[in-house]
Amino acid sequence: MAKYKVIAFDADDTLWVNEPYFREAEDQFAKLLSIYETENKIQQELYKVITGNIPLYGYGVKSCILSMIQCATELSNNKLPATITKQILEIGKNMLTKPIELLPGIVEVLETLSKDYTLIVLTKGDLLDQEKKLERSGLLNYFHHVEVMSEKNPEGYQRVLNHLDIAPKDFLMIGNSLKSDILPVLEIGAKAIHVPFHSIWQFETVAQEVMDIHDYPTLSSIKKIVNFL
Ligand SMILES: [Mg+2]
Repeated sequence: MAKYKVIAFDADDTLWVNEPYFREAEDQFAKLLSIYETENKIQQELYKVITGNIPLYGYGVKSCILSMIQCATELSNNKLPATITKQILEIGKNMLTKPIELLPGIVEVLETLSKDYTLIVLTKGDLLDQEKKLERSGLLNYFHHVEVMSEKNPEGYQRVLNHLDIAPKDFLMIGNSLKSDILPVLEIGAKAIHVPFHSIWQFETVAQEVMDIHDYPTLSSIKKIVNFL
């Protein structure tokens, strides 16, 4: 008998590569604005603007680009040349059209698990971008349901479980972010498996002492899920 009925996957940096593209975009942004400030300081300022805007803009590329324009305007003391605004928009368009790079073993894992479990995707980010990425990934057919959540907090997870009629004991979440994929899921009484990715956004990090009091398995690769279950 399977222990769970529904297995949910995070998308970015769990199914496919994402975070390095944001780092790359931030580096490009810092270089572009380096006439005004040191690149290091620009990166710090941008982080502040992006995270400060999350309650209004949410996550994803479009929000990031709006924050870049705000940050650049401030750095230039309201004298930002339109050519730079245009280049910032280009950085965003490049991110939105990047080919999908699946993480190793994903297709095999989904192929195997889909025989015994209902698989779903729970992700944050832009609705259109995430839907397009799923389509381009070729993985869409493995999933019974896809939900782009505006925030991955306990209430958000509970809402999805209620909506899909899933009891917490039947639910397992797999993801790379302790803050978004593991902690809130444990909080509603469901189980989660952490599969770290080599690069994590500062905003998604959690203090070790917070993690030490929680019980969840960590796997070094998604390929180990099948044997683990
Ligand atoms: Mg992720």
